[in-house]
Amino acid sequence: MDVFKNAIAQLEAAAAAAKSDPLTVEILRRAKRTVQVTFPVRMDDGSTRIFEGFRVQHDDARGPFKGGIRFHPQADMDEVKALAFWMAIKCAAVNVPFGGGKGGVTVDPKKVSKGELERITRGYVRAIAPIIGPETDVPAPDVGTDGEIMGWIVDEYSKYAGKPSPAVVTGKPIALGGSLGREAATGQGGIYVLDAYTKTAGLDAVNLRVAVQGFGNVGYHFARLAHERGYRVVAVSDSKGGIHSPAGLDPVAVAAHKKATGSLAGFPGSTEIAGDAILVIDCDVLVPAALENQLTAANAPQVKAKVILELANGPTTPDADADFAARGVVVIPDVLANSGGVAVSYYEWEQNRRNEKWTEAEVAAKLQPLMLAAYDAVQAKAKEFGVPLRLAAFAVAIDRIGVAMQAKRT
Ligand code: NAD
Repeated sequence: MDVFKNAIAQLEAAAAAAKSDPLTVEILRRAKRTVQVTFPVRMDDGSTRIFEGFRVQHDDARGPFKGGIRFHPQADMDEVKALAFWMAIKCAAVNVPFGGGKGGVTVDPKKVSKGELERITRGYVRAIAPIIGPETDVPAPDVGTDGEIMGWIVDEYSKYAGKPSPAVVTGKPIALGGSLGREAATGQGGIYVLDAYTKTAGLDAVNLRVAVQGFGNVGYHFARLAHERGYRVVAVSDSKGGIHSPAGLDPVAVAAHKKATGSLAGFPGSTEIAGDAILVIDCDVLVPAALENQLTAANAPQVKAKVILELANGPTTPDADADFAARGVVVIPDVLANSGGVAVSYYEWEQNRRNEKWTEAEVAAKLQPLMLAAYDAVQAKAKEFGVPLRLAAFAVAIDRIGVAMQAKRT
């Protein structure tokens, strides 16, 4: 599926509905810079493999390009372009002073050794080093990458720059300048947004059954915090399949089971479900937290949830969006719902640049009002134009990017 085309369809729909500035929209239709790299890596068996990587810098009107690095066997330029675009919209929607970028390497990180993974990461960093940096483009983790990989990136980039450069990436280990609260930030931000929505809609957490697709960094922390807040997590899934328990699952216990057995299957008190089945399971809130293009014209009509909280980037295609709008299913869009991650990335970057270390409570005290302000701005725009939350979030972002672009024009 053409992910970038879908992303631009969202831009056009929002711009048309909210009558956004045409020049801003025209500029946002394309990436400012796309870079494709190849680099050789020595493998453990002595052979050399050539890897392909990407870095897309979509827009930096409001600040340095910002966005994660994905290691995935299907990572390609089209996907990275869409993700970079969504980052530009997201940073503006949540109002952090960053633009949008994204990176990727076509590799299955589960099929290489730790040493190979480190050499792939370092090779990729050397290839993109001339275009990234603390003031220009600041990567972070995404699917298939984590804090340890960010640590290697800091080390390799610092060698290139000839000085310690912790602010070149976020999502680092704490010992290397990472921020407390970053690991759970995306899930935590999702909880703040869901709580705000349920309050507006007059719903009560204890009566809401939640299903979470994807049990990685985002899905796990969201599920854990949702359970703590009193939501009933009735199903979770990962790339191998899912589990269902109408009585509710304890995500911490599920994670321990997965760690011990290597799989969600067999968790006591649950039944196994096929991977895709989670999307159409009987629940109130569906939380896609895996990959893009999961909710499509083919399965959207069968979705039973009344609320979709998009923690993955781009999980809903425009066709599925249209079906949800027609059926009154509320979609809380990715660029709002999952922006807690980039918000705390911004706090991490600020701490690095000021040489400060904030407590977890200090980070949380900044994150909650930021997310609520973003939620309120999006709700207000939705009301003003009578449009779904996605179009409203895009419209808020386009306006903010437009103001910055206009301030730079002569
Ligand atoms: P991750 O690699 O930690 O986890 C991904 C999870 O999805 C894994 O559990 C994997 O098994 C599962 N998965 C993959 N394919 C699946 C399928 N077909 N069905 C069910 N599960 C499947 O990645 P992550 O960091 O948790 O990112 C998940 C999503 O959230 C991505 O779309 C990412 O772009 C987005 N996101 C991440 C962050 C962040 O802070 N990490 C921030 C914003 C958005």
